[in-house]
Amino acid sequence: MFLPRRALVDEILESEGLDGIVFSHPPNLRFLTGFSGSTGCLLVTSSGVGFLTDSRYTTQARDQMVDVEVREAKILHKSVVEWLTELGCRRVGFEEETLSCSEMRRLREATADIVWVPLERSLQMLRCRKDKEEIATLEHAATIAEAAFTEVLPRLRPGTIERDFATDLEFAIRRNGGEEKSFDFIVASGPRGALPHGIAADRVMQEGDLVTIDFGVRYAGYHHDETVTVALGEVSDTLRSIHDIVLRAHDLAIDAVRPGARIPDVDAVARDYIAQCDYGDFFGHGLGHGLGLEVHEWPSLSARTDATLQEGMVITIEPGIYLPDVGGVRIEDMILVTASGARVLTKIDKQFRRLPV
Ligand code: ZN
Ligand code: ZN
Repeated sequence: MFLPRRALVDEILESEGLDGIVFSHPPNLRFLTGFSGSTGCLLVTSSGVGFLTDSRYTTQARDQMVDVEVREAKILHKSVVEWLTELGCRRVGFEEETLSCSEMRRLREATADIVWVPLERSLQMLRCRKDKEEIATLEHAATIAEAAFTEVLPRLRPGTIERDFATDLEFAIRRNGGEEKSFDFIVASGPRGALPHGIAADRVMQEGDLVTIDFGVRYAGYHHDETVTVALGEVSDTLRSIHDIVLRAHDLAIDAVRPGARIPDVDAVARDYIAQCDYGDFFGHGLGHGLGLEVHEWPSLSARTDATLQEGMVITIEPGIYLPDVGGVRIEDMILVTASGARVLTKIDKQFRRLPV
């Protein structure tokens, strides 16, 4: 599993003309080695692979990485530079987006003999096409999400406090085998639904509300992300109508997903439909994002992302309409880009759902 992933790094070494790359961003460490600790440096070089960590993690690292030499470091940046020098590395790439300025300064101060090359796009793309194990893990997380959501759905009713529902959902996720929540849940009812990032608060849900629940399950390090919007009893014609528009925009965008599709074009499918329905001013965020070992990964699905979809990417499609002082709707699924188009990995039905009150 890890050798094909490291072969992707070999391709970057070649295309960037590098002798090695230093990785320290935990999701990259986990992707390339299986190491799930929070501190360490992986050196992938043309002459071998090595891992450095401190005494808290050496035993764990040796257990989790059977095929990588693990050394214990007292002063990490010094040991990194010594090992790179030992391997004859002169041009070395680093994770531009996540390595801190002070970490970079310490590496530079430790030697003048290495040229440090910032890597942005090539590393962003490293994890974007998911392999079989990753897809199965994300789909399993979606199955846990469905079981947990189904379990707590009866508690979604007038009188329930948003924050209490979020807590119940989190407990249900853990009871059903999830290791953690992917992020702080959004539970936004009634007028609060107009807040795209309305973290669950003290509002008491009322009959006639739409309630937007954006939640995620972390399982084996992977992040599921899904949004359901449901009605508590009868809702106004406006709310019903924006639900139908968002659902249609979501379905049209999924139909447009296929390898080779330009990301701005897929974004435009949903955005243009919402604009045609006269709600263009009320859908301000991007259409979705990649996800996996992080809840937001490259690519971001927006008009500004100049890239195409590729087979194996897992992305979200999550259009929304947010009407200030009235309410809002967002509908989000995780989608696998397949050879022939798209497969929805999330399991919860997104058709309009009116809960009994
Ligand atoms: Zn979400
Ligand atoms: Zn999302």
